Amino acid sequence: MTVLRWLVKVGGIVQGVGFRPFIYNLAGVHDLKGFVANSSEGVEIDVEGSREALEGFLNEIREKAPPLSMIEDISVQEKVLAGYQAFEIRESERSGKAKTLVSADVCICEDCLKEVFDPGDRRYRYPFINCTNCGPRFTIIRDVPYDRDFTTMSTFPMCPECFSEYHDPVDRRFHAQPNACHQCGPSVLLKDASGGVVEKDNPLPAAARLLQAGYLLAVKGLGGYHLACNALDHEAVRILRERKVREDKPFAVMVNDITEAKKYCHVSDLEAELLQSQARPIVLLRKKSGTLAPQVAPENAFLGLMLPYTPLHYLLFEQIEFPLVMTSGNLSDEPIAYEDRDALMRLGDVADYFLTHNREIRHRCDDSVTRVYRGDRYPVRRSRGYAPAPVRLDFDLGRVLAVGAEQKNTFCLTKGNYAFVSHHVGDLENLETLQAFEESIELYKRLFQVEPEIIAYDYHPEYLSTKYAMANDDLPKTGVQHHHAHIAGCMAEHGLTGNVIGAAFDGTGFGIDGAIWGGEFFYGSPVEFKRIAHLKYVPMPGGAKAIREPWRMAAGYLRTCFGKQWRDAAPVTFLAGKNGMLLDTLDDMMEKWINCPPTSSMGRFFDATAALIGIRETVNYEGQAAIELEQRAISALRGGDITYNYVIQNGSQAWEIDTGKVISEILEDCRRKVEQDLMAYKFHNTVKNMLVEVCRKARDQYGENRVCLSGGVFQNILLLDMVYRALEENGFTVFIHRIVPANDGGISLGQALIASERRRLVCV
Ligand code: ZN
Ligand code: ZN
Ligand code: FE
Repeated sequence: MTVLRWLVKVGGIVQGVGFRPFIYNLAGVHDLKGFVANSSEGVEIDVEGSREALEGFLNEIREKAPPLSMIEDISVQEKVLAGYQAFEIRESERSGKAKTLVSADVCICEDCLKEVFDPGDRRYRYPFINCTNCGPRFTIIRDVPYDRDFTTMSTFPMCPECFSEYHDPVDRRFHAQPNACHQCGPSVLLKDASGGVVEKDNPLPAAARLLQAGYLLAVKGLGGYHLACNALDHEAVRILRERKVREDKPFAVMVNDITEAKKYCHVSDLEAELLQSQARPIVLLRKKSGTLAPQVAPENAFLGLMLPYTPLHYLLFEQIEFPLVMTSGNLSDEPIAYEDRDALMRLGDVADYFLTHNREIRHRCDDSVTRVYRGDRYPVRRSRGYAPAPVRLDFDLGRVLAVGAEQKNTFCLTKGNYAFVSHHVGDLENLETLQAFEESIELYKRLFQVEPEIIAYDYHPEYLSTKYAMANDDLPKTGVQHHHAHIAGCMAEHGLTGNVIGAAFDGTGFGIDGAIWGGEFFYGSPVEFKRIAHLKYVPMPGGAKAIREPWRMAAGYLRTCFGKQWRDAAPVTFLAGKNGMLLDTLDDMMEKWINCPPTSSMGRFFDATAALIGIRETVNYEGQAAIELEQRAISALRGGDITYNYVIQNGSQAWEIDTGKVISEILEDCRRKVEQDLMAYKFHNTVKNMLVEVCRKARDQYGENRVCLSGGVFQNILLLDMVYRALEENGFTVFIHRIVPANDGGISLGQALIASERRRLVCV
C-alpha cells in the first residue's frame, strides 16, 4: 500500500466549533496519522495514509462537519512523507495572516441542556454550562485567535476535571474556551440596587420569588443586561415603563418554550423554527388576545417573543410559571448596559434587584429582532446570534470599510466575498456609542484581519460616522447617498448585477441637492443611479422637531396644499388646543422656508397623515405615528381597492408625486367622519398605488423589471405586503431584505458594495 502525505487547509468558521476533535475522530475512523492544529488561517491537517483513506477523509470533512462550523474552502497539497506514528491535536500557532471567522454567540445546546437538569451530572444547575457546540463567543472575545487566554474567561483557571475535558480530543468540551463548572467557573449573585449582595448560595429561587412578588430585576445576559418583570403583572409592567421612561414602545417577552409562545401569539412552523434557532432572535409574532399585561405592547397587533438562550435563563424559568418582560437594560434610548458597574449606576433607579454574575461581557450585543415574511426571515435588527458571522456575497468586494448611518448604526468590513456586517452599534449620538463604534471597528479589523483600502460614508455631513470617516487621512474615501445605499444593500444580498428599479421609502436621508430625501425611486446600479421619481417637497417646520411632533408635518403638508389659507382647511380637531401664536410663527417660517428643510420623506408623509387623521400628533419613540397608522390600517383590512388621488408630474429632473389631492381628500373624509381605521387603510393603499404606478412608468421607459424595496418605511409589514403583491400582479420581480434590515441597519452593506464597485471601475 502506498502511503501519501497531504497538507489539508480548511478555511471558514472552523475554530471554537469543535472542529479539531471532529477531525481527530475522523482521522481515527480512516486510520490516518499526523496532526490537526488551528492556524491563523483556519485549521491545518497534516495527514498520512492510503490514497483511498485520504479521499474518504476529505469527503467526510465536508459532509459531516460540526453544526456550528462553516467551511468556506479546502485546499490539499501533497508533501514529502514524515512518517507520523499517531494522530494528535496540536496547539494553535499565532503566526501568519489570520483568516479565521469568529462565530456569533450560540444558545445552549441540547446536550448541555440535558446535563444542566440532570441531578447526577456534575454541572447540575450550573448557569454557565457550555461546550464547543454552544455558549458565548463574540461577546467574550478580546483578541484572536479564539483561545481561552484571549477571552474574558482567562481569569478563571480550570479545575482538574474541566482541564482534562478541555484537553481531551474526544470530549465535547475539547477546547471549549468558556468551559467551566461549579468548582472553577463564574457564579451568579443576587444584588440589591445599591450593589449589596442579597443572596449568593441560592440566587435563582430568590430571584424567582422577587419576580413573582412584582419586583423589577436587571438580569445579566450574553451581550448586556435585560430589565425583567412578570409580563402578566400589570402593575409591574406599568412601573417598568415609568422608571425606564419608555411610554409606549413595545417590550419584548421571553417565554419558556414554544407551547408557552403559542398561548400568547400565533406561531407558524417557520416562526417556531426561528424562535428555536441557535441565534434565538426576538421574533415579531401576531398577538392573541389574552392575559399579558396590555402595557407590554400597547396599540400593536404584534408582540416580540423570544425563548431562553442561556442556561441562566432556563434555570430562572425552572422556578417561575409566567412569561417575563425582557427589555434591554437601558433608559429610554441609551445604549444597553453591559458592564457591571455601569449597569448598577444606570439601572439602579429602575431595577429593584440585579441578577448578575462575574463573567465579564467584553462586547455589548443587543438581541436580534426579526420576523417571518413570505417563508423567510425579514430582519429588523441583526445583532446577537448573527453578528459577527459574515454575510457571504456573490461579489468580491475587496477590502472596504463602510461606516454606516447615524441611527441603528452598523458598520461593515469586507474581505473578498465576505461582508462582516457588525452587530447593532446603536444611534451614534453620544460619546459612549461613538467610542463603542470606534472600538468595534478596530476589533473587527483584528478579528478578521482586514486592513481596508477605502472608506465609504454617508453624505450627511453631521453624521458622527461621516465625521469619523473624514478624520481618516490615510485612506481614500467615497461618499454615498443614503437611499442609494439602501437599494444597493438589497442588491448585495441578492447578488444582483446590472440596473434595477429601486424604491427607497425612509424617514430621513441627506439628498444630493441638500434636501431631506426619503420617498425616492431610482433606476440604476451600485455605480450609477438616476433619481427617477420622488414625493414632492414639503417644508419640515422646525427641522428635527417635526420628527418628534408629526402635527408639524401635517402643517407642512397643509401649507403646501392650501397656501396662506391652510388653517381654514385644517380639521377642527387638528387646530383644537394649538397655540395661535405658534401657528403664526410656523406659517411665517414655512412661507420663507426658514428652519424648514424641504423634504420628500415617505416616513414624514405617514406622520403627517397620522396627525391629520387624529391618530397621533406627537411621538415618544421613533416611527410611532407611522406604526400606529399601520396598526389602525390592519384592523380595516376589509377596505378593498379604495384610494386617494395623486398626480405624477414631470419635474425638471424626475417625476414628482404631488400628494395635494391625498391631503384634501383625507380632509374630506375627516369632515364626513369616515372611520380612522379606514382612512389609515386607504392611505396605505394609496402609497401602494403610487409605488406601482411609478414602477410601471419606469419599466416603460427603461425596460427593467426588477424592483428592490428598501428603507425603514418597509418595516411596515402591511405596506410591504400590499406593495409586494401588487408588483407581482403587475409582472415585476421583487427583491426585499432577508439578511440585513431594510432600515438604516442595512445601510453599511449597501455603502460597501457601492464603494467597491466604484473602486473597481477606477482600477480597471
Ligand atoms: Zn453545549
Ligand atoms: Zn471546573
Ligand atoms: Fe434610511
